[in-house]
Amino acid sequence: MQKNYVIGFPRMGEKRELKKVLESYWAKQCDFHEVKFIAHQLKKRHWTYQKEANIDFIASNDFSYYDNMLDTTILLGAIPKRFQHLKDEELYFTMARGNETCVAMEMTKWFNTNYHYIVPEISKDTQFALNSKKVIEEYKEAQALNITTKINLIGPITYLGLSRSVDNSDVFMHINDIVDVYKQLLKEISQLNNEVIVQFDEPLFVKDLEPKVLSLLKPVYDALSNVASNVKIVVTTYFEHSNEATKILVNTPIWALGLDFVHGNKNLESLEIIKNSNKVLIAGVIDGRNVWKSNLKDKLALLEHISSVILKSNIIVGTSCSLLHVPFTLSYEMTLDTEIKSWLSFASEKLKELNLISKEFFDLELTLEERADIKKNSENNQQRKVSSKIHNKDVQEEITHLRLFERADKFEDRIKAQREFFNYDALTTTTIGSFPQTPKLRETRKNYKANLISQEVYETEIKNYIDECVAFQDEIGLDVLVHGEPERNDMVEYFGELMDGFAFTANAWVQSYGSRCVKPPLIYGDVSRPNPMTVKWISYAQSKTKKVMKGMLTGPVTILNWSFVRDDMPKNEVAKQIALAINKEVNDLQKAGINMIQVDEAAFKEGYPLRKKNIKAYEDWAVESFKLSISCAKATTQIHTHMCYSEFNDIIKTIEAMDADVISIETARSGNTLLKIFQKVAYKQEIGPGIYDIHSPRVPSVQEMVEQINALIEVLPKEQLWINPDCGLKTRKWDEVKQSLKNMVEAVKIVKKEK
Ligand code: GLN
Ligand code: ZN
Repeated sequence: MQKNYVIGFPRMGEKRELKKVLESYWAKQCDFHEVKFIAHQLKKRHWTYQKEANIDFIASNDFSYYDNMLDTTILLGAIPKRFQHLKDEELYFTMARGNETCVAMEMTKWFNTNYHYIVPEISKDTQFALNSKKVIEEYKEAQALNITTKINLIGPITYLGLSRSVDNSDVFMHINDIVDVYKQLLKEISQLNNEVIVQFDEPLFVKDLEPKVLSLLKPVYDALSNVASNVKIVVTTYFEHSNEATKILVNTPIWALGLDFVHGNKNLESLEIIKNSNKVLIAGVIDGRNVWKSNLKDKLALLEHISSVILKSNIIVGTSCSLLHVPFTLSYEMTLDTEIKSWLSFASEKLKELNLISKEFFDLELTLEERADIKKNSENNQQRKVSSKIHNKDVQEEITHLRLFERADKFEDRIKAQREFFNYDALTTTTIGSFPQTPKLRETRKNYKANLISQEVYETEIKNYIDECVAFQDEIGLDVLVHGEPERNDMVEYFGELMDGFAFTANAWVQSYGSRCVKPPLIYGDVSRPNPMTVKWISYAQSKTKKVMKGMLTGPVTILNWSFVRDDMPKNEVAKQIALAINKEVNDLQKAGINMIQVDEAAFKEGYPLRKKNIKAYEDWAVESFKLSISCAKATTQIHTHMCYSEFNDIIKTIEAMDADVISIETARSGNTLLKIFQKVAYKQEIGPGIYDIHSPRVPSVQEMVEQINALIEVLPKEQLWINPDCGLKTRKWDEVKQSLKNMVEAVKIVKKEK
């Protein structure tokens, strides 16, 4: 029998149907029936695709209107107090998105992916009660279509482990309560069919778990496995190895373990004990995190290696994680270079790969078409290796001959030279880069891309924006100005489009949160920068003012972390190539007389590995690439960087090692508490702790900002501080921005007078 297994499937729909219907429902343009109807169509279509691709184990309850963690909160009845007066879909979407009176629940990144989940809020008083409706209905929905599914659930330990304790109580104090709820659920599930498979997702097990948490695994999975003899339990982990957990789980009565052999190669170390336990192994070999065609030969070799230890009859071939993290299908990519397209595989294509590889592995008879597909796979992979599109000798040469990996002058000397050169004061005011993106601006860029307006018209429009933006900043008396980024759609896409080695898709959307999707660029080959990317705009902006114009670039680590990266070269090498390209831009900018340059690293923290053991290696190459990207800067070229978060406690020394002269960060929502870490470690470089929150339309008053600045001065000397908003202003409206920045400048004046 063929045995293959899909951990989960994307739900947005190949044309983002779910996004569209949700957004029209939220805008009150349709009712919830419409949403339900579309959802049903999508589920049906996705199950059918999997069935047609010969997938044996297809999930239900992997669908969600917003997020699976939020679904689990509803399933367990762990509704925070402020929402308890609400019901059904109103309750659900208010928890996710908030309303006038209830603040939405927090959202955060799902492990090291760009998917965000709704963080459960737990206190010592949280009560749990089963609400099995969605789980049961979805199973029956598939059953009615003649498809028997396995049921996906978030495991109890991961659920609690990812919760936020609102009263500092230990979230795990509730483990018995929630296991009881899960037990009730499994009872209900056992009534659904003669045999039902339930998949518990426990990705938390790939982190370095405390002994206290590890000690829960056995009792929890003993209990869950013993509820009903016709319910078979699968525990899946992904994104890394989970060897500590495997050791324990093999001694529980679970039926199968799902492990990631793409991003958790070290799982191979557990094969022996899995064999001895006689558990079924779902071997995740098809990459659910990246977009490249599998090399079927390599995958087969990996499976053969696994089956040299574990009996073939105990192996199921699977995806490494849910396919949620890859785009839907290549079918709509009409404009993508055909050669590059032949190297790619999105969710739908991965189903076919899974079918082929499992058929081959289990020696099942292949159809003629399948044989042809296997041949094609090998040809495409072969061709990719030698393609001239991927290899750029010049870049490779340059990298091997690199000499200058960091700036020639030390920070202490640079900052002296810079203070003299710019002659700036304490509490210098600036912004993070972007100014409001108006519908008109978006329209202009779109029309230009679609060739509906000439380059000349386009450039005039952009220049007009810059004129107004610069004039405004001058007028209100900001010290260091920016051009406003009107030419950029997105801080990564803009640079990717101007560099070689990047490709862009038409429809490769991936869910980021709720209805929001992103379309990451693909880095397929050696990266280089054929021409300057920003010099024209920044120089133009500089020509419009006597003040300092700060150039604006995106850093190598962020470009890398927000793209799908080639899998035929180590990430650190790719980062180095991007760094070299950015380095050239820095150099061209300073040659053009731009003496302050900001290199944003908004996604620096996102790339952190899940296991502590791997952190140092990441930090080493990430810092090295950032430093390389600015190594050409003269002593009097002041380098800024910006990071969109505020938790610096673990990484403060790494941030310092990046060796930027000034860093702007997001601390607006925490007063001065987060700044204290900078004081504690005697951080030496200059800092712009965002003094107001740009994520809200609210205009902060002068007085409020005076207080905020005074609070900052209590922690760090004012000579070390810059004053700025906490992120770019592109999502705000002009009138909010104008008033907020005026108030900010005014506040600084008042503080300076008082001191
Ligand atoms: N310079 C960028 C901007 O202002 C930075 C964006 C970001 O930090 N995400 O928009
Ligand atoms: Zn930011």
